Amino acid sequence: MKIGVLALQGAFLEHEKVLRSLGVTAVEVRLPEHLHDLDGLIIPGGESTTIGKLAVDYGLLEPLRQFATAYPTWGTCAGLIFLAKDIGIDRQPVLGLMDIHVNRNAFGRQVDSFEVDLAVPALGDVPFPALFIRAPVITAVEPGVTVLSRLADGRIVAAQQGHLLATAFHPELTGDPRFHRYFLKMIEKVENLRTSD
Ligand code: GLN
Repeated sequence: MKIGVLALQGAFLEHEKVLRSLGVTAVEVRLPEHLHDLDGLIIPGGESTTIGKLAVDYGLLEPLRQFATAYPTWGTCAGLIFLAKDIGIDRQPVLGLMDIHVNRNAFGRQVDSFEVDLAVPALGDVPFPALFIRAPVITAVEPGVTVLSRLADGRIVAAQQGHLLATAFHPELTGDPRFHRYFLKMIEKVENLRTSD
């Protein structure tokens, strides 16, 4: 399996390390041609305004949109913002593919980062160590989107819409590979569907 990690800015190296530890080939995506032959794509955390601006500068916005329309794509933190249809601002370039409404920097400046043990039923009974860094939250989901996890106060922090996965936190930074494994399983399911067509 070959997975691309958008490597314009942010925490892409950490995702690559987890993927390699799971025996997967990780490819850095900086140009449209780097998207060829990939089974899936991870859009890392970082700064969504910067990622969006660089994606425009590198001619990547439309190729990324086409890729993520057809193939499994996972956005973490800024990557979640980049996947969302509604981030409450029009002038920031995003892919706008996932039917989620997002509030950027939802925890305010005073709470820069924190870690919680998050219940994620799709990953089993053991809570997931979730690190939030200037994180967004999903304020609402449209039909077709499954909520995978909520904070204790009910705010949505992980969701899936078919082949699209979004997490508001950073699973690549806490040493627990279960979310990466979950994404690999999503890819296998999509590929099985394609070959059975
Ligand atoms: N606050 C950042 C943004 O709005 C996201 C932070 C992160 O990815 N850790 O893009």
